Amino acid sequence: MKEDAMFWSDRIARLLVERSKFNHMDKPTEKTKKFMIKSSTSISGVPHIGNASDVIRHDAVVRSLTDMGEKVKFIWVSEDMDPLRKVPKNIPPEFKKYLGMPVSALPCPFGCCESYVMHFDRLFIKSLHDEFGAKPELLSTTEAYKHGHFYPYIKLALEKIDVIKGILNKNRTTPLPSLYSPWTPVCDNCGKIITTKIIGMEGDVVKYECQDYSFQEFGKEAYNEVAGCKHKGDSDIKKGNGKLLWKIEWGAEWALWKVNFEGAGKEHYMPGGSFWNAGEICERVYDWPEPYPGKNEIQPYEYIMVGKEKMSASKGNVVATWEWPDFAPPEVLRLIFIKRPNRARGFQYEKIPDSVDELDKLEKIYFDLEKVEDKKELMNNKRLFEMCSIEKPRRYIPKVPFSFCSLLTQFIPDAAGKNFDKVMKTVRVTGHIGDPDEEIESSLKKRLLQAKSWVEKYGDEESRIVLLEDLPPDILGKLTETQKYVLLKMGHFLRKGDAKDLWAEMKKLSEERGVQTAEIFKAAYLVLIGKEKGPRLIPFLQVLDRNFVIKRFSLAG
Ligand SMILES: [Zn+2]
Ligand SMILES: [Zn+2]
Repeated sequence: MKEDAMFWSDRIARLLVERSKFNHMDKPTEKTKKFMIKSSTSISGVPHIGNASDVIRHDAVVRSLTDMGEKVKFIWVSEDMDPLRKVPKNIPPEFKKYLGMPVSALPCPFGCCESYVMHFDRLFIKSLHDEFGAKPELLSTTEAYKHGHFYPYIKLALEKIDVIKGILNKNRTTPLPSLYSPWTPVCDNCGKIITTKIIGMEGDVVKYECQDYSFQEFGKEAYNEVAGCKHKGDSDIKKGNGKLLWKIEWGAEWALWKVNFEGAGKEHYMPGGSFWNAGEICERVYDWPEPYPGKNEIQPYEYIMVGKEKMSASKGNVVATWEWPDFAPPEVLRLIFIKRPNRARGFQYEKIPDSVDELDKLEKIYFDLEKVEDKKELMNNKRLFEMCSIEKPRRYIPKVPFSFCSLLTQFIPDAAGKNFDKVMKTVRVTGHIGDPDEEIESSLKKRLLQAKSWVEKYGDEESRIVLLEDLPPDILGKLTETQKYVLLKMGHFLRKGDAKDLWAEMKKLSEERGVQTAEIFKAAYLVLIGKEKGPRLIPFLQVLDRNFVIKRFSLAG
């Protein structure tokens, strides 16, 4: 297949397989027997769906490589030696004392894990495995340092510090000082890592003094102060109680875990940006090829916008990954992240039903139940659906639109439970599902539960349907004689006929009276819910109590 016709992750996979050279050195790469795909995040709060975007996009590359018959390992690295720069939301304020310490120093708030981050990392990874079909292995930088995995890389960084400085100085106006340590120790006395100032280096030992430190939180004006304890100490790199400076660390991670591919946010890919610095260090110091390809659809990728704001914990527009499946199909989140990752993409919780419709449409296209003329578009849509699916799709499962499910749950209590029969009866009449089996029914039950939570949590006025208990005179006053007449006739029809044939009847009546059907829809919505618009009328009437509709259309109050 021509390259430009390929799905983006397949294109990346092919480039990875065909790679033959280092990026910063004139040197051939060895043939890769097993591809290592790395995704990582520095999480200091509850891991949210924004944190999942990176993992899910990398998972698409993992799937593409796997489909090419390649062996792949997928890791997610918790960057938990990074200093804590702010107290995460929803945790006790006394955690303030941990500011400036490695994030892994925060204790598990429930007392069950080695650290606060590990507690949430495990929940995060578990939800990705169980719900989102992405199965990276969880690694932690703190653990890697503690177990000495980084030791040879720290040692090499110390030995080749001039090479590293040369690389970093290329993008600096003032060159790095002569006393420059790639290793940042944790203070033996107070446990902080942000406060240790290097005062000397000797072999495997880095000397430091613990000094006050102030820093700006990302995007904030004010400075945070972290007090140093004045302790002077020696940090032996063999003990691993500290970390490499982050660009060096990034390069060392790639070499240590033999990473072939890792994408990151676009700020890392400016000319002279951290990705390229880390990549050059990775090659020239650690003799491991920079992850490839440098530029592609997910590096740099665009951020997801929620309404007008970036998806982020500080904006409060995210939910924990394990909460998402309560109110929306996990496939939808995969769709949001995987579809055209290099284009800015908006997302709104209120519009989740539209995203579900998009997914349902892709499913139909995948199973050739809906036509797409353009060959390239067809292939892309099919591949996109595979990438959004939790498991390889086996058969078509007919779907009831999400918005209709939300409607059903608003009028049929316990719709996924004891009144599920009523739901099935309704969706058979509406034609959404003709011939159900166990799998179809269980998929519908799941969707009903999600739609119910969604409308309660995020549903807007349009999706929350409240019937008028009585017919107020002012509504009646808004109707023309013709509208009243047609409604009345529709009521009569319903007394003997079926709602599913009502559309034909309505058209016939409208033609007879020389009125647009739009006017009749308007009248029907007005008498039912007091608004001029509402859910699709015929299926809606199917959901409502028949006697109520007949009485209301007779305009008797
Ligand atoms: Zn725990
Ligand atoms: Zn200290």
